[in-house]
Amino acid sequence: MKRCKVCRRKPKLGRRVNCEGILFCSDDCYEDYENSPNDFSHPYIDDYEAVRFEYMEWMKDYEDDLYKYWLFGSPRKADLIADIDSVIGEFHDYYRLERTDGIFSQEIYQYLLQLEELQIVIAEWEVDGNELKKRRKQLERKRREAMIDEERENIL
Ligand SMILES: [Zn+2]
Repeated sequence: MKRCKVCRRKPKLGRRVNCEGILFCSDDCYEDYENSPNDFSHPYIDDYEAVRFEYMEWMKDYEDDLYKYWLFGSPRKADLIADIDSVIGEFHDYYRLERTDGIFSQEIYQYLLQLEELQIVIAEWEVDGNELKKRRKQLERKRREAMIDEERENIL
C-alpha cells in the first residue's frame, strides 16, 4: 500500500490526492506539501472534494445511524440506502467517464463504488445486542444528567 508523501503513514479514511496523483493521508499533510500545483483550477476538484467529504461522513456516522433506529425508531436501513443513492446520483457523470479523465475522475469513481459497497454493508448489517445495551445505558446516563442539570437550573 502506498504511503503518505509527507508523513509516510498509510492513508486511511482521510486519504486524498492532488491533481498529480500524489497521495496524502489527510488534509493537513496535503496542505503541508509545498510542491503541490494549484488543484483549485481543476474542473473536477469541487466534485472530488464533495464526494470525498460525503464518503468520510458516511463512514464515520453510518453505524451510529443504524443504532439510532434501535434507540429511537428511525432512520430505517432503507432510508439510509436511499440517502446514499441520492449522493451517488449527484455524481452520476463520473460513471459515464469510468475513471478515464484523469486522477480526480478515478478517485470520484472509486468513492462511488465504495458508497455502493456501503449500501450493501448497511443492507446486511445486524444489530449487536451487547453494543445496543451499551448504547442504551449511555443514553440513559445522558438523559439523567440532562435532568439533573435542569433541576439544578430550576433551583438556582
Ligand atoms: Zn500524512
